[in-house]
Amino acid sequence: MTGGTPDRKLTLSWRIGLPHWETDEAFGRLLDLAREHRSVVDEVALFETITHHLYIPLDVYALRMEMAAKRLDAFRDARIPSAGINVLCTIGHINEGWSYMPPLPFQAMVGHDGGVSTGCACPNSPEMRAYVQAKYKLVAAARPDFIWVDDDIRMHHHGVAWGCFCPVCLALFARRAGRTYGREELATAFDDPAQGPLRQLWVEQNIATLEALLADVAAAIHEVGPKIVIGKMSAGPGWTTYSGQAFERWFTALQATKARPGGGFYSDATPMEMVRKAIDCGWQRASLPASVTDVQYELENFPYQRLKKSATAVVNECTLALAYGLNGVAFNMLALDYEDFLPLLERIPPARPLWEQWVAHTAGLPTAGLWPAWSSQLMAKRSVRQGEHWLGWHPQYDITRPVTLAEIGLPIAADAPGCGAVLCGRVAEAFSDDELKGMLAGGLLMDSTALEVLTERGLAHLTGVRLATRLDNGMMERFTDDALNGGSAGQLRDARIEFWGNARGMADILEPVAAGVRILTTLEDYFYRPQGPSMTAFDNELGGRVVVMGYAPWIFLHSVGKRLQLQNVADWISRGSMPVRVDQAVPLVSVVRMSADRQRGAVVLLNAGMDAIREATVHVRLAARHARLLTIGQDDRTLRMEPEELGGYITLRSIPPWSLRVILLEA
Ligand SMILES: [Zn+2]
Repeated sequence: MTGGTPDRKLTLSWRIGLPHWETDEAFGRLLDLAREHRSVVDEVALFETITHHLYIPLDVYALRMEMAAKRLDAFRDARIPSAGINVLCTIGHINEGWSYMPPLPFQAMVGHDGGVSTGCACPNSPEMRAYVQAKYKLVAAARPDFIWVDDDIRMHHHGVAWGCFCPVCLALFARRAGRTYGREELATAFDDPAQGPLRQLWVEQNIATLEALLADVAAAIHEVGPKIVIGKMSAGPGWTTYSGQAFERWFTALQATKARPGGGFYSDATPMEMVRKAIDCGWQRASLPASVTDVQYELENFPYQRLKKSATAVVNECTLALAYGLNGVAFNMLALDYEDFLPLLERIPPARPLWEQWVAHTAGLPTAGLWPAWSSQLMAKRSVRQGEHWLGWHPQYDITRPVTLAEIGLPIAADAPGCGAVLCGRVAEAFSDDELKGMLAGGLLMDSTALEVLTERGLAHLTGVRLATRLDNGMMERFTDDALNGGSAGQLRDARIEFWGNARGMADILEPVAAGVRILTTLEDYFYRPQGPSMTAFDNELGGRVVVMGYAPWIFLHSVGKRLQLQNVADWISRGSMPVRVDQAVPLVSVVRMSADRQRGAVVLLNAGMDAIREATVHVRLAARHARLLTIGQDDRTLRMEPEELGGYITLRSIPPWSLRVILLEA
């Protein structure tokens, strides 16, 4: 497995808000709760502040840390195995409570638009660095087993959208760039198509700024407590790569052996978002240096109101995160009022045995399936065309769009190269020619905007097609009688492309430029008049298999016919190596871990629909003969695996809505 090396031990950790430990009365109640639920409390972390505003005077902070030391001792007396402190603010998260919190006594973060943060600091001023070091020394003096550095270690979203353009940072950048830039001049230059190197330099400054800050934090902690374990929390590349997403450098600078990948999933209103977050956390896990062994998922119910998220969602999202290779959960769900979280907490003990078996069985096994290509250098390396804003949001750089494939049951890998790559939009700009050739030499599923990028790079011949015409309204696609369409031949797929915003790139005609290009779909207008090919498959000279999608590539893939076609396509481009395939058109999300020799593996299946699934025939392409079925709240069962050419199949029955089935496989 690439990235960190999560060990075989599951860790369930609880993050505890200041109101739960500040007074003796509140802490007494909390300690009782921890004792009562000892079976799911491996670790506790005390938040040391209640606001996301960075600055707290050190004399106030010192008194708080004296109290924290007593609380940590009390946890140890209660035989909680590990007790530490979660430093919420190192830079500050957002502007919060600014009208009464003490103002920052040092340089605040400044946005590209000149906005000044009220709660978050520029990480480059010597005064701020001295303050942060003094603060972490006070934390270390409370003798915690570990210290978490929270996920405000970023240069974006600090009350100002994009930092930091303060005088200190502009002076630093002048040395880097070899000339002086004013803030407005620099922000304008970032939108100049010719200024790619300048943008790369700026992202490097972001990376280096955070790296230096983290090195200071590590030095301060270890000066006071050389044995204190350090952890770093993070947000995912699915949000932005503006700050550089340089996990190797940052975790190394912080000497961190714990990680807590995170992202946003807060509500039952959009339950499928839990899949997106789990994959984003898998990407983060895959980016860690090997020295990180304790990787805890961010279960976050912020701001902690019970009816926003069900216990079912909590258990499901934690299981998906463990499926993506994390080996623990950091629960951030303790609301001020116990009634807002107790019913959720009660659902954790029944899940623990399954989670423990999963983590032990899958340790070291990479995720398998299609790998959505992404790069930590996406923002640094992307192009900017005339009239575009580098710092603006652009759907063609949204790396999460292929996650839709998970919704129709295709296993998505967080570890490269997976069984094949997926290239969407203009993400290919972040990769070198050699990296792109590597993808083209294997299995590759891509959209027609990615084809545009490959054409600019002189690689389009490896796809077998060129982009002939862009239509942007009134189009459907019809499935040809190519074998990859199976029983879906002749079907129409209509995504009503004008309804979802600008439809440019949603109905592209592809023209074959090589012999042997297979046409999988053709465009038709609403009077069934054929327009030309819109989806193609090609065996290229590198031995790669490339499928290009020109029609509504990342939305409305959910028809029975499209699902069948994409299952066939995934099997074809991967030469039969896709690890799992389900016959029935049911909303079963699958996450697979598998050894390279295919002798050992495991599958999580989540019914991500509101209907019970009566029956699912699950083909598993592993040489395994022994399969065990784990279900929360039920005894483990041995499953009958019927052998077939590429492995075997298993029949599952009666899977309730939004519930899980876990299969552990061994030779
Ligand atoms: Zn600054």
